[in-house]
Amino acid sequence: MKETRTKMAKHIHKCISCNNYTLTEECKCGGKAILPRPPKFSLDDKYAGLRRKVRKEALQKKGLV
Ligand SMILES: [Zn+2]
Repeated sequence: MKETRTKMAKHIHKCISCNNYTLTEECKCGGKAILPRPPKFSLDDKYAGLRRKVRKEALQKKGLV
């Protein structure tokens, strides 16, 4: 029982060498599989970049840059 539990990964990993999704930390190709960032994180990142751009433009309009 214990062995099965440790072997079964709960999260889907993504291989960094072939970009395949796998349930283990080691891909079938022998490459290392990592946990991909949740989609929400990259979305926040995108908005943060946009916000930064908007703020920079606002500062330039005020002549503070
Ligand atoms: Zn792979």
